Amino acid sequence: MSEDIQTLKHHYELAIVGCGPAGMAAALNAKIRKRDFIILGTEFCSPKLSKAPQVDNWLGFPEIGGEELRQRFLNHLQEMEIKIIPLQVTNIYPGPPYTLVGKDQSFEADAVILATGVSAGKLFPGEAELLGRGVGYCATCDGPLYKNKQVAIISYNSEGEDEANFMADICAKVYFIPYYSQVLRLDPRIEVKNGKVKGIVGTETVKQLDLGEEQLSVEGVFIIRDTLPVEQLISGLEMDDAAIKVNHKLETSMTGLYAAGDCTGQPFQLIKAAGEGGTAALHAVKYLDSLKSPAS
Ligand SMILES: Cc1cc2nc3c(=O)[nH]c(=O)nc-3n(C[C@H](O)[C@H](O)[C@H](O)COP(=O)(O)OP(=O)(O)OC[C@H]3O[C@@H](n4cnc5c(N)ncnc54)[C@H](O)[C@@H]3O)c2cc1C
Repeated sequence: MSEDIQTLKHHYELAIVGCGPAGMAAALNAKIRKRDFIILGTEFCSPKLSKAPQVDNWLGFPEIGGEELRQRFLNHLQEMEIKIIPLQVTNIYPGPPYTLVGKDQSFEADAVILATGVSAGKLFPGEAELLGRGVGYCATCDGPLYKNKQVAIISYNSEGEDEANFMADICAKVYFIPYYSQVLRLDPRIEVKNGKVKGIVGTETVKQLDLGEEQLSVEGVFIIRDTLPVEQLISGLEMDDAAIKVNHKLETSMTGLYAAGDCTGQPFQLIKAAGEGGTAALHAVKYLDSLKSPAS
């Protein structure tokens, strides 16, 4: 993983954020159109696709299992020599060029396709209000700020275990609240709490994590999800309820920024996600061409 990340350039024409059917379909068209692009994903692409027990509406493959389809998608990318870079993007700063930030990494792209899917569940009470004031989404990025302090990691997947282990070396105390089964590789200094989070408490900065029957005194709370809420990833994007507002070209309200798949709203279906991903890439390519030869 680290080898792939070290090969990141400072600038790409196109960045595709997300590696589900929408992101992968976008990457195929970007490759076919010979663009200078990068596709970024989390370790496992994509949990939703893999969980579909039987897919009856994917044209040409009746009754195929989600995991088999996932393998076929990944093999297709491999055959086209497309490498998914395992980096979760935690912030995007408006452009163009857009600046994309992940763990210890940042780079620029003239155009961006958001293909992040939708995040599970609602934000925790206090999460949005205390974001950047004790609440964060990347413990290893902000770790040094919490030296000798008490923090909590709320994690929806095993990637949170690496974040917690990293923090155990720095912090006075690390609590781990898993929202998944089978926590496997935690440092023994970390205390696992199996309660459910009722809220993150604080006025100026984070003071406590409310687990209902117990209040944990912490100064930092990190939430590790497969998919960040869009509003936390990039600010100022026009939304339509919880979905990113797009037109038929999959353009968002920001120039050069496209969105595709579940993140643009219902129906949450594979064929819609893949169709939008491919379409967004074609329009992004046209946009990139227009940058090179602007209409006079
Ligand atoms: C149990 C189940 C059964 C289903 N069955 C069907 C079915 O039979 N037929 C059908 O059509 N649909 C089905 N679906 C829906 C289908 O799986 C989704 O519509 C589809 O996966 C959406 O694709 P996507 O690419 O938009 O998002 P996702 O598949 O959710 O992929 C998004 C990917 O991007 C990654 N990502 C997110 N944020 C970031 C970031 N900031 N940085 C880097 N990577 C990021 C995520 O980790 C994820 O891997 C099912 C879903 C579930 C859960």
